[in-house]
Amino acid sequence: MMIEVLEPSTAQVMAEVPQAGVGETDAAVARAKEAYPDWRALPAPDRGRLLRRLANAIEERLENLAILESRNGGKPIGDARGEIGTVVETFRYYASAPERLTGKTIPVTGGVDMTFREPLGVVGLITPWNFPLMIASWKIAPALAAGNTVVLKPAELTPLTALELERIAPEAGLPEGVVNVVAGPGSVCGQRLVDHEDVAKVAFTGSTDVGRRIAAGAAGTIKRVTLELGGKSANVVFADADLGRAAAQAPMAVFGNAGQDCCARSRILVENSALDRFMELLEAAVEAIRVGDPLEEGTQMGPLISEGQREIVASFVSDSRVAIRGSAPEGPGFWFPPTVLYPVANNDRPAREEIFGPVATVIPFRDEADAIALANETIYGLSGSIWTRDGAKALRVARAMEAGVISVNSNTSVRVATPFGGFKQSGYGRELGPDALDYYTDVKNVYYATEA
Ligand code: NDP
Repeated sequence: MMIEVLEPSTAQVMAEVPQAGVGETDAAVARAKEAYPDWRALPAPDRGRLLRRLANAIEERLENLAILESRNGGKPIGDARGEIGTVVETFRYYASAPERLTGKTIPVTGGVDMTFREPLGVVGLITPWNFPLMIASWKIAPALAAGNTVVLKPAELTPLTALELERIAPEAGLPEGVVNVVAGPGSVCGQRLVDHEDVAKVAFTGSTDVGRRIAAGAAGTIKRVTLELGGKSANVVFADADLGRAAAQAPMAVFGNAGQDCCARSRILVENSALDRFMELLEAAVEAIRVGDPLEEGTQMGPLISEGQREIVASFVSDSRVAIRGSAPEGPGFWFPPTVLYPVANNDRPAREEIFGPVATVIPFRDEADAIALANETIYGLSGSIWTRDGAKALRVARAMEAGVISVNSNTSVRVATPFGGFKQSGYGRELGPDALDYYTDVKNVYYATEA
């Protein structure tokens, strides 16, 4: 069986790759298990050196990987270059981690007590189609740095850059079996990783529904699990904000990657007294978005990933609610125009459910307390933004918002050096930054009696 990989901007097949099943998944786990003792035993500086070489090897192929990601994901080439750049940065950041994976010494009676951060073993990684290689690198790099070996199952819609990485890793000097990729259905290969007795942990990014299933399945073998799931993040704009900047930056905080971003600020909460002015500014910004061929320099938004995703997104939009609609190409490809819905109540379906497409909702609020209540009235808690010139208010609201990643006067969520992850049903565990290493290691405590 082959997987037909589509190019979303043309709806044409761009590649065919062999489809893995249970047998291939088991074989990949066996290779990772065999490679584990030597990889784990490698002196920390040597593991770091190999990760640095992998970063360099990816950097040398950056343009080709970016073109592949742009075509297969339907994402603007500029964004794809940024993502592969982040992959390089992620491997470089964690190349320094093996030598910094220190434990503690703890004062006790009769001896010395020390802790070690031990690797887990073979780690299963299940990743989505929205940022294929970038999200994979957020898992692979800390997992390898801590001494684990990995089996990655990329989304069937976007397996190409992951398969490239599997080829690049040994070329860069990583021992065979340290990085393994199985491209096959989640319900088969992903499920097998969840059930497999030789897989110590599963790290997953994707929908909350599948995340729930993975957590339940992992209970059978007491696997460690980290989950990075959906979001319905709030972009809170107070009347005292720089409205020009807030409105100029709000569209791409939802429409970036055609809205297929778990951090999308898809609920734009605007203080009543600033609403009219904000909507005027927002309209101009949305209409200026360049939607088109992902490979054309300057394109800001491409198509959705699939026809299925377009149908899901369309189900949230009724024409009577559309306040602003941008442009999108006609013809083949899974296009959907940037769309702003207003008025919308916080409990209406488009404001409640993750749309994962270029659809924003605008929801007015009365005051600070109302803004916090609306922002938190969701099952999700991934990210959020606060726009105000009042520093104390910004910090009060940041502390009150139930989300893992907040930015003030900015809509950014991700930095390689800082922790990323959700509250509530957006998941648990943290990726990136120093924290990610905690989720790829177990703490071992060793007591050494020293009494004569
Ligand atoms: P899924 O959660 O289904 O897919 C994510 C990954 O999980 C894919 O690799 C998929 O494999 C795999 N998977 C699917 N079923 C299982 C299973 N039973 N056991 C183990 N792994 C499995 O997301 P979808 O692609 O279906 O997207 C649907 C919605 O999910 C989106 O509209 C969006 O709301 C949300 N989503 C959120 C993401 C995020 O970044 N938080 C990313 C992607 C989606 P495969 O697809 O190859 O079968």
